[in-house]
Amino acid sequence: MEDWVRAALRCPRCRGELGDRPGHLVCRACQLAYPVRDGIPSMLAGRAVELGELP
Ligand SMILES: [Zn+2]
Repeated sequence: MEDWVRAALRCPRCRGELGDRPGHLVCRACQLAYPVRDGIPSMLAGRAVELGELP
C-alpha cells in the first residue's frame, strides 16, 4: 500500500498509530490486529483479531 495511505491509518477504536505485522496492522493499545488482504487493510472492528491469536 502507498506510504501516505499507511500513514493516514489509525486504529478505529482508539485512534492510535498502528504497527506492522505480516498480513496485519496491529494496535498495541487495544491488543488488536486488523487483517490486510491484497494490500488493502480491513479496518472494521468486527474483522479484528486479538494479538494473541496471531500465529
Ligand atoms: Zn487501538
